[in-house]
Amino acid sequence: MTDRDETIASRTGVDTDAAYGAVMPPIFLSANYSFADFNEKRAYGYSRSANPTRSLLAEAIAKLEQGAGAVITSSGMSAVDLVLNQIPAGGLVLATHDCYGGSWRLFEARARKKQIRVRYADLRDSDAVGAALKEEPALLWIETPSNPLMRVSDIAALAKRAKAVGARVAVDNTFLSPALQKPIPLGADYVVHSTTKYLNGHSDVVGGAVVAARKEDLDELIWWANCTGVTGAPFDAWLALRGLRTLHVRLERQQATAGRIAKRLAESSAVAAVHYPGLEGHPDYALAQRQQKGAGAMLSFELAAGADVREFTRAVRLFALAESLGGVESLVAHPATMTHASMSPEARRAAGIGDNLIRVSVGLEHEDDLTADLDRALTQAAARAR
Ligand code: PLP
Repeated sequence: MTDRDETIASRTGVDTDAAYGAVMPPIFLSANYSFADFNEKRAYGYSRSANPTRSLLAEAIAKLEQGAGAVITSSGMSAVDLVLNQIPAGGLVLATHDCYGGSWRLFEARARKKQIRVRYADLRDSDAVGAALKEEPALLWIETPSNPLMRVSDIAALAKRAKAVGARVAVDNTFLSPALQKPIPLGADYVVHSTTKYLNGHSDVVGGAVVAARKEDLDELIWWANCTGVTGAPFDAWLALRGLRTLHVRLERQQATAGRIAKRLAESSAVAAVHYPGLEGHPDYALAQRQQKGAGAMLSFELAAGADVREFTRAVRLFALAESLGGVESLVAHPATMTHASMSPEARRAAGIGDNLIRVSVGLEHEDDLTADLDRALTQAAARAR
């Protein structure tokens, strides 16, 4: 019998402890495991290679993503890098032009060292994608919805076109999680997560995961993760598994609040534009409805011309000015000086990330408190208009 996602998330590893019958799976911190006898390995030998706590988290995430298996890494960035290790030296990476700034920085750094080549395209622009695919990329890097503008790319259509020219397809599913989007059934070969975000959900772990659609790719990922030592710590895996158990209820509530906030912002004269795929006016609304189970709990908006961005970030009381996202606490970020500061100003401009753009990660606070806080901060920012 196949369990539903909520059941997989809440029950993976529950009541499986043979030693004491612990209902919740114990944490295995041991770095090494003894041989059963001479030349007789047990299931685990050394925690860099494999660890029982990490295995449980990998099992849960892989099942939720409908993949063959997963590797748990020390961060989202090491997960991104692990995928880059899967393409031949000098291979071309075709990446979405508004990907996470840290991924952009990594692609650029590896390209400077001539380990890969990279080119960017607006993945919603069919002609631009067609032109880039003519260069036969080894890897297509999709991030949807994109960070911070919440643009939605058509995973199934892109995967089909990329595969026709022999490219592998990776999707960074950090923004929605498998609760709201499943790239593997849509054609992705790899799904990448910063588990730091929704999967853990409590902003107290930095971690990552790569899910492989196929067993042979999984074996390669496992080999490289052990070889380069990017596997995650057992304690982090244990915390992330604990967080994952409530993923679906957290996101359901966070998403409902985000929808309400997005509507409210769209009605405000202090706001020039709202980027949230759950709004009917969003250019990718129809695609998001088809591809995603929900619009998610991330949004961004542009303050009206002249409004004081700094004043806004100072005036909010219930939104910490902080990077990261996906936790129980609401956050605001100013991409140009924070999450996307590692991008060159030209690359930011090309991606449409302006200086008046604010990104919001909606948490679990009461929606009335959040909207009241935003209203007040917007009024203050508009009053300070230059
Ligand atoms: N991918 C996305 C979409 C992200 O937002 C982030 C971090 O913000 C990462 C990857 C990198 O993850 P980490 O910070 O866990 O290394």
